[in-house]
Amino acid sequence: MTPAQRRASRQVRVGTVAIGGGAPIVVQSMTNTDTADAEATVRQVMALARAGSELVRITVNSPEAAAQVARIRERLEALGCEVPLVGDFHFNGHRLLKAYPDCARALAKYRINPGNVGRGARRDEQFAAMIEAALRHGAAVRIGVNWGSLDPELLARKMDQNARRSAPLEAGEVMREALIASALESAAQAQALGLAAERIVISCKVSAVQDLIAVYRELARRCDYALHLGLTEAGMGSKGIVASSAAMAVLLQEGIGDTIRVSLTPEPGGERTREVLVAQELLQTMGLRSFTPLVTACPGCGRTTSTYFQELAERIQAYLRAQMPYWREHYPGVEEMRVAVMGCVVNGPGESRHADIGISLPGTNEFPVAPVYVDGEKTVTLKGERIAESFQELVEAYVRRNYAPGAARHRPARPIPVKAVS
Ligand code: SF4
Repeated sequence: MTPAQRRASRQVRVGTVAIGGGAPIVVQSMTNTDTADAEATVRQVMALARAGSELVRITVNSPEAAAQVARIRERLEALGCEVPLVGDFHFNGHRLLKAYPDCARALAKYRINPGNVGRGARRDEQFAAMIEAALRHGAAVRIGVNWGSLDPELLARKMDQNARRSAPLEAGEVMREALIASALESAAQAQALGLAAERIVISCKVSAVQDLIAVYRELARRCDYALHLGLTEAGMGSKGIVASSAAMAVLLQEGIGDTIRVSLTPEPGGERTREVLVAQELLQTMGLRSFTPLVTACPGCGRTTSTYFQELAERIQAYLRAQMPYWREHYPGVEEMRVAVMGCVVNGPGESRHADIGISLPGTNEFPVAPVYVDGEKTVTLKGERIAESFQELVEAYVRRNYAPGAARHRPARPIPVKAVS
């Protein structure tokens, strides 16, 4: 079974973007600006969209924030940015959506957290008010459950039921069941209010890898709603990236997940757009989508005397990313190009031959030249001070030659390399 075969059969339209039903897995992200600060929010939405975020969620937590949403939408459109906006509502969404119809109209999707809608009888009333707003304005809805804000009444009910069982489940299992029940019961309630299943996306986020895998496997077994996948509070830096990738890769490989968000805590001064790049790289390295040509680079070892090849690999990757907004429009298919930057003769020529274009730099005690391979053939040997610049020019020429519309592309299929240990 390929990953695509088990994805949600239902397709949800969120503005111009399709989630599920055979559509490519959608990358999304969320701003961390105060939405009441429209200019800062516009800037960050633009940056996230430019980085490749196909949906951007913004916090709508106060009248001041809600009052700016339509303005943010207009300003984005004036700047040529059509990325659909998702409103993140907790506690007061029913009031804000009613009091600010321009806000409700400007959002393509509402995220509703069933644990933060209200308590008792008011919970149903307030939930219904948000669904009615979605119906009125043609918005999709994400029923977004989070274990940090799980509906306490529902959890208590599940705990009571469990206590009456002859063989009670462990607390963790009851928690997972409560998360799933919260999402599915709320989705059923939304459908009973008239919202089509094709307007509903579900998520059940937890912060532990094994719990996420267990919860989403069960969700995928019990429903065919489009699923938003993500590990909540994944953390900072490499921990956040590894935890998110470990959890999501298992599920994506099983065909579970129609849209993903990588919830990274930015390091001080770090870029918010990093979460978009990580999500893209996760999908691309798994072979599920292509966004930007990826650079294959060796880790380096005692055979390399300097960091020169690491700098070249990073420089080439940064150059490829910077070119993509232009290349995407003018050189269709370029996102699948494979580039290799290798540190020495041990694996360099082999890996470079398997790339579309690759360079093998000289290691310690090697003759100071850098052979370049194009479509598997050695074409030129670079030397001297301008190896980096010359290689970049060769990459640019390769793109023009092979990906310009109508270009006669002769790109022989090469076998997947069997990696040597290095
Ligand atoms: S190709 Fe392998 S052996 Fe050569 S520098 Fe890179 S890691 Fe070291």
